[in-house]
Amino acid sequence: MISFSTDILKKQDIYLEGEEPPAFLEVEDSEMISFKDNIHYKLHASMVSGGVLVKGGAGTSYDGVCGRCLENFKGEFENSDICLFYEELFGAELDVTEDVRAALVVEIPINCICRDNCSGLCHICGNNLNKNKCNCQEADNVDSPWSKLNNLKL
Ligand SMILES: [Zn+2]
Ligand SMILES: [Zn+2]
Repeated sequence: MISFSTDILKKQDIYLEGEEPPAFLEVEDSEMISFKDNIHYKLHASMVSGGVLVKGGAGTSYDGVCGRCLENFKGEFENSDICLFYEELFGAELDVTEDVRAALVVEIPINCICRDNCSGLCHICGNNLNKNKCNCQEADNVDSPWSKLNNLKL
């Protein structure tokens, strides 16, 4: 739970920094992505006219299975632009947990790939093209109607 007393806030800004367990996300693990690491957050709360402003960031890492090459990999996601506003509450404990969760959950990657330029698997032999080249592509080109064009020297 991430919360603080608004009474203190009247006297000074509050800096919140800490960790929450992966269950904080309330997102079930899937075949493609699982959460095993703590969520880190760093927030700054201050009084502004009419209310309380909470800004900062939160992030964590995940264990993914690449959608292209099927390898396991470690990825990260974060929201470094969290900005929440609450109307003034007097003498209350302000719980920002749900809003921080919502701001972070939207950053969970939808396309789970190990890296932007992942070459994936050869669709013929299943070889991981990030690790080794195979001859399938070349053989493929020979049969391609464009292979003559590829060899054309201009
Ligand atoms: Zn990959
Ligand atoms: Zn191949």
